[in-house]
Amino acid sequence: MSKQQPAFTQTSVKAILVINCGSSSVKFSLIQPESGKTLLSGLAECLATPQASITFKYNDGIHNQAQKEKSTLVAPFDHQIALSTLVNKLVHLNLVDNIVAVGHRVVHGGEHYSQPTLIHANIKINIEKLAQLAPLHNPANLIGIDACQQVFPTLPQVAIFDTAFHQSMPEKAYLYGLPIKLYQEHSIRRYGFHGTSHYFVANQAASIMNKPLEQCNLISAHLGNGCSVTAIKDGKSVDTSMGMTPLEGVMMGTRSGDIDAGIVFHLIKQLGYTAEEVDTLLNKKSGLLGLSELSNDCRTLETTMLDKSHPQSEQARLALTVFCYRIAKSIASFSASLSELDGLIFTGGIGENSAWVRQEIINQLSLLNFHLCEEQNQATCFGASGNITTEASRPCWVIATNEEWVIAEQSAKLLVSSSTGEL
Ligand code: AMP
Repeated sequence: MSKQQPAFTQTSVKAILVINCGSSSVKFSLIQPESGKTLLSGLAECLATPQASITFKYNDGIHNQAQKEKSTLVAPFDHQIALSTLVNKLVHLNLVDNIVAVGHRVVHGGEHYSQPTLIHANIKINIEKLAQLAPLHNPANLIGIDACQQVFPTLPQVAIFDTAFHQSMPEKAYLYGLPIKLYQEHSIRRYGFHGTSHYFVANQAASIMNKPLEQCNLISAHLGNGCSVTAIKDGKSVDTSMGMTPLEGVMMGTRSGDIDAGIVFHLIKQLGYTAEEVDTLLNKKSGLLGLSELSNDCRTLETTMLDKSHPQSEQARLALTVFCYRIAKSIASFSASLSELDGLIFTGGIGENSAWVRQEIINQLSLLNFHLCEEQNQATCFGASGNITTEASRPCWVIATNEEWVIAEQSAKLLVSSSTGEL
């Protein structure tokens, strides 16, 4: 047995509690990192409002049946209450003693963090400082860390940064065409997000090809409510579509993606918008929602587009068409970052499930030798994975992402290497 393994074996029946804290929600999973088995998962939502609730999904050990339970949370309806309710549930299900660590998704790690990191006081100070770059996300992640430290005071807490996988980007990819002092003195550069997801699906593609990740050249498209495309060279991220914030890049559910920065000045100077209003417009009212004037939800838009009698059918089609074109352009642009390309990956709620979106994108990538197999494309939805292109085509795989598993696995590995002094 190699040097790294003993501690991992000791913890092999143990589990990592994975926490993804948003400003008004906490997503959680209890995962056995070695088997990948999820013992319990769930979501606390509408926090800070009297509608706050928590949902648990787990397998009932006695009857071996999947259980789903939803209950309301009590005042003050906050993250602390949500986590205390989760602890009570874990105690009730006899799962609490299995937990060896808590793994937290932290959105922005700036240039400090390219690896999973054990959380101590200084790390929290840095995460707080980085909130300047991620004001919507890092403060919420810190609330989750604080609340978990209170309810699990003896457990190690690990931060897994969404930006970490992209820290391998070269300067030419991460610098903006702005005065260099803005980077040197204010850290204004491209960071990229969804790193955990891009890393996971790249690994899965490597297994499909039976090659080490370090020999894989890929483009991955994470298409969910947030969307990003990443170029992966020799297993490392070399460019990605999101930038200093998740607003840059392809069009998304409610985010505009790339626009002419001059529009911001036009909105403020000519149309009287405040900076706050522009922020809300670009982050929350644009994208699929803004163009369709109907919904940010891809499913709703597809249904509406296909229902010709619906008055907004054509507008839904337009929104989806712009969405797909912008993603296809982004994928094609990353051919400049790579000298070889093994294949393309679709993941995220839309990438995994929308055959229409995938078809629309692939059909615009024939110059890169992507040719859709319609039958395979239609068959690959709802958790199915596989190649959706023809035999003559470059492969395009649909792969279900599993960010929680990566967080659990990387937290476990960090614990092992810390305990063997290999950190
Ligand atoms: P995510 O943020 O990864 O949870 O993805 C959410 C997006 O996935 C939403 O736009 C959903 O409408 C979309 N989505 C989920 N299931 C489907 C489906 N069956 N067909 C089309 N879009 C879907």
